[in-house]
Amino acid sequence: AKTDGRNSYRYYSSEMNAHMLERIQLEQRLRQAVVQQEFCLHYQPIVNVDNHEIIGVEALIRWQDPKFGLISPDKFIPIAEETGLIEPIGEWVLQQALRDLAHWHSQGFEISMAINVSGRQLINGSQHGFSCLLNAQLQKNCIHPRYLHIEITESMLMDDTEQCLLALESIRSLGVDIYIDDFGTGYSSLSYLKRFPISVIKIDKSFVDNMLERESDANLIKAIVMMGQSLGLKLVAEGIEKQEQWQMLQSLGCDFGQGYLFSRPLPSQQLELLLQEQMIP
Ligand code: C2E
Ligand code: CA
Ligand code: CA
Ligand code: CA
Repeated sequence: AKTDGRNSYRYYSSEMNAHMLERIQLEQRLRQAVVQQEFCLHYQPIVNVDNHEIIGVEALIRWQDPKFGLISPDKFIPIAEETGLIEPIGEWVLQQALRDLAHWHSQGFEISMAINVSGRQLINGSQHGFSCLLNAQLQKNCIHPRYLHIEITESMLMDDTEQCLLALESIRSLGVDIYIDDFGTGYSSLSYLKRFPISVIKIDKSFVDNMLERESDANLIKAIVMMGQSLGLKLVAEGIEKQEQWQMLQSLGCDFGQGYLFSRPLPSQQLELLLQEQMIP
């Protein structure tokens, strides 16, 4: 209220200070984590909707803080993006994911690898910067580019449209597919799907969550699938937790699925056990 404006201002500012302090501490710890390599990757299977066969995995980063335990990417990726720490972190992700993929390929599991890439990584210096990095890591690990996908979000395409387009074309020309992540949640513009070299749409979990209860969400998924198909794109549905969601997505014409119903993201060794159980090398 206006009468105690002075007090509430003081209260507000001390709360802000506490928040900023926390933020600065987190940033310092994150810097340290990069040097000390406190990250690990978990892998979530992406499966064929028709036969449940694992066609690939998505690499999802975790921060293993010695004091605070496992920290989820939603907590630290935004800070990494703001501070530029996403560049060394992203490079580490790429290295580790391709090293693990090369190992699985050597065992006869011909799966693909999807990696999340943020805008700042894509546009780092030159337009070829990131694709050069991809190319170098693919060659180092002797992996054919068709086994690597990158996932980007719609909002990235809005920010630096021209630069993004050049960077993505450079990546696409390597033979690496580009997935559009969390589709439908951002400022979706259909023209992006035509303008950018995108091969796959990932339908956001929020639509899958409510598709059984809300007809409007089911209809939205139906529309996204139809539009994707008419543009020659493949579709992945994410966040599938129930058998009924799975069945409906299959009947709607989704190609691939991902979600706890099939598997949670797993540490590399557990993922390997799953591959051994479910796939014939
Ligand atoms: P995302 O790319 O949309 O990843 C999907 C998220 O949904 C993951 O959360 C995954 O664990 C979760 N998920 C998958 N299936 C289900 C399900 O059936 N139910 C529920 N409740 N959740 C499910 P996670 O691992 O916490 O990652 C969060 C976000 O952090 C990712 O969202 C992605 O945007 C970002 N991220 C993760 N790893 C990286 C990375 O290496 N680089 C960058 N730039 N971002 C990353
Ligand atoms: Ca993703
Ligand atoms: Ca997603
Ligand atoms: Ca997400």
